[in-house]
This record gives sequence, C-alpha cells and structure tokens, in this order.
Amino acid sequence: MKKEFAVIGLGRFGASVCRELSAEGMDVLAIDLLESKVSEFRNIASHAVIADSTDEKALKELGIRNIDHVIVAIGEDIQASILTTLILKEFGIKKVTVKAQNNYHEKVLIKIGADQVIHPERDMGKKIAHSIISNNFLDQLELSDDHSIIEIKSSKKMIGRTLVDLDIRANYGCNVVAIKSSSAKEMNISPLATDIIEAGDVLVIIGSDQDISKLEKGLVIDD
Ligand code: ATP
Repeated sequence: MKKEFAVIGLGRFGASVCRELSAEGMDVLAIDLLESKVSEFRNIASHAVIADSTDEKALKELGIRNIDHVIVAIGEDIQASILTTLILKEFGIKKVTVKAQNNYHEKVLIKIGADQVIHPERDMGKKIAHSIISNNFLDQLELSDDHSIIEIKSSKKMIGRTLVDLDIRANYGCNVVAIKSSSAKEMNISPLATDIIEAGDVLVIIGSDQDISKLEKGLVIDD
C-alpha cells in the first residue's frame, strides 16, 4: 500500500517538504492554521485543510491516525509543536518527524517520543560554512550528535597518492568508505589501501566530527 504523509505547518520549510513529497507522487495531507497557507496547497497536496494541530479532536476527525509519517513543521510556537507531537505519538503514529527550534526544544521532543528531530537551519548553516571554508567540501550527513559522513572532492594533497600513503585512519581517525572516481561510473565501495586517488574523485569518509574537522584541516583546507 502507498505510504501516506501529513505535513503540519506550511511555513517555508513545511511548504517545501509538502511540495517535494507531492512532486514525488506521494499522498500528502497538508495542514495549517491559516487559510492563506492552506489555499496555496489545494492544487498541490492530495488534501489541504485548515486545522489547529493542538486540537486533538480536530486531528482525529481528519483521520490522521491512519497516516504513516507526519512531519511537524511548526516553528516559532514551540508549545504547539510539543503538544502536537505528544498527541500524534499518543495516537500511535509510527513515524513523527519534528522541526526543532533549539536544543532544549529537541530534548523535550525526544523525551515525548518524536522519532526524528531535525534542525534544517542549523544543518544548512553548517554545510554552507564548510563549503565556504573549503571548495572541496560537497556534503555532510549527520549520523549522530558527534558522528558524520562527509563527501569531499580529492584535494591537491591527496591526488596521486594511495590510501596507504595518506593513512587517513591512523592520522585522522576517519575511514574512507567509498571513492567515486571521475573516470569510472561505478562507486568503489570499500576501496583498497593501494587505490590511487585521482583528480575529480569524490571520497566518502566516516568519522567523529572532531576527527573529520582534523582531516579537513590537514588534507583539504588551503587547497
Ligand atoms: P519557516 O522558517 O519554515 O518559514 P517558521 O519556523 O518561522 O517557518 P512558523 O512560521 O512559526 O515557523 O510556523 C510554520 C507554520 O505553522 C505557519 O504557517 C503557522 O501558521 C503554522 N502553525 C503554527 N501553529 C500551528 C498549529 N497549532 N496548527 C497548525 N498549524 C500551525
């Protein structure tokens, strides 16, 4: 059966999630307090309704209990975001993703059972800062509070050298888990220690944020 989604709060973030899910052909129920926001989504989402998500009865009447994944994208009204999450988890919704405003908000959301807490502004800020510092930085995926996977373009200090030469694990405590070569179409998963890094290669590296930062300073920045 097709997975069903609901997005609560159609600010810039919620609207973007809603648009993208709809563009991917997903069934999306879009909810906001304001008619002006909801009317924008009448022709985009499968259903768009005006409702206050802190009103348990209203949510029940919308049939939100049958939705597989709800995204709570209420920003400024932290109280409403927390109460909405609590109601959704009490309804037994399997996956609730919530946008947090700050670390305190996140802590409360985790305590009351949010399955995924996201900080789009903070995470985007981090990525942009990295890409400003180094042109080689491509992307970062946070695995936990202190571990990430990063994608970087091979730097001058790497080109023509093997993984043994660079000894990234011993020198920086990180692991190169894959190399996407500019020449080969396939991703080289679990590269060999003797594989030579070429210009244009993209390295996928896993490690603690501290070790990744050390690696960036040692091998990537000042390229
Ligand atoms: P963004 O940065 O994504 O634009 P934001 O973080 O500033 O948004 P807000 O504008 O505070 O977030 O809220 C996002 C949307 O959530 C608004 O359109 C607002 O009307 C809606 N919203 C707030 N409270 C509720 C609620 N209780 N029920 C439904 N929608 C709500």
